[in-house]
Amino acid sequence: MSSKIAILGSTGSIGTQTLEVVKEHRNLLQVEGLAVGKNIPLLKSQVKQFSPSVVSMLNQKDIIYFEDIRKNKKLNVQWGEKGNIKIATIPDVNTVVVATPGLPGIKPTLEAIKRKKTIALATKEVLVSAGKIIMSETKKQKVKILPVDSEHSAIFQCLEGRNTKEVSSIYLTCSGGPFRGKKLNQLKKVTLRQALNHPNWKMGKKISIDSATLMNKGFEVIEAHFLFGIPLDKIKVIIHPQSIVHSAVEFLDGSIMAQIGPPDMRLPIQYALLYPKRQKNNFKRFSFSDYKALSFEEPDIRTFRCLNLAYRAAKLGGTTPAVLTAANDIAVEAFLDKMLPFHKIPEIIERALEAHTIKLNPTLDEIFESDSWTRNFTRSLIVHDIIRA
Ligand code: MG
Repeated sequence: MSSKIAILGSTGSIGTQTLEVVKEHRNLLQVEGLAVGKNIPLLKSQVKQFSPSVVSMLNQKDIIYFEDIRKNKKLNVQWGEKGNIKIATIPDVNTVVVATPGLPGIKPTLEAIKRKKTIALATKEVLVSAGKIIMSETKKQKVKILPVDSEHSAIFQCLEGRNTKEVSSIYLTCSGGPFRGKKLNQLKKVTLRQALNHPNWKMGKKISIDSATLMNKGFEVIEAHFLFGIPLDKIKVIIHPQSIVHSAVEFLDGSIMAQIGPPDMRLPIQYALLYPKRQKNNFKRFSFSDYKALSFEEPDIRTFRCLNLAYRAAKLGGTTPAVLTAANDIAVEAFLDKMLPFHKIPEIIERALEAHTIKLNPTLDEIFESDSWTRNFTRSLIVHDIIRA
């Protein structure tokens, strides 16, 4: 019997790779719902290829492009936040892939959990900004969150059949990004093109910048903390430039389990979609003889300050991680628009963290309020700095 899936964010990097996994396993996976932002041409071609029953897009004005398909076939066309929730709650769907960028992923995820659907989670903000709320609902409904990120999938695989009380440390591996080894004065001169050029992974623009600043790894620390219920001081980051060891778990007896494989997001995606089964595919295999050496080093937290800002935000808790993601969003956006130099990204985030008044145990609304406060505050900081310069 095939498993029915819905994808939030099907035209993004994770979304399109999820559909590649579906193509590999047509007999096991069936696409029922697709939600996107504004990439209507790609959604149209996905509809042709995968025949979902429901689609959703950001803007109401775009539903006109589906008029013809809607008439000929049975296609339910939705839009906006309501549309996302519709996709997340399609009655006969088993697994919802959450890969829509940012906070808009939170509410549909929560609704899907309430309908007892398995979540294949890629969107970082869902756990970083609303980890407590999401995890408590997950427990209440007894549903699974299966990580799609390569690091969390690795940890998840290493932990299978184990009690997390037996864990002494988690090692989140990190490629180090395109600027590994550079010092602060060198970071002052880096260009947008260089920052977007990740050595190992093909990814979207925003996450490529987050990998270059190491903020991406900071988010992953926070996600791992919520997802596996492991205290922050047991979660360590280790630089591993080859991106072959996807993460590792050290147990109380000193034994370390690591998961390795080629840097291909389709592997963790497939593991989440077909869990707990392993199935053959035609993806490129890892070859030990291609790698004469694998190397590991400590992260340079003085130069790449975003990593520590993430630990700090996580320790403060409450609304602070939501402030971290929002401030980072705006700072990265400004860098992509060439309004902010690369090395100023952590400084802007730090100023937002310091100006924010923490709310512990926030409601979802309070998380969204902190998010919009931070966006406004961070934007005005950046504009102010530009005027002053
Ligand atoms: Mg990752």
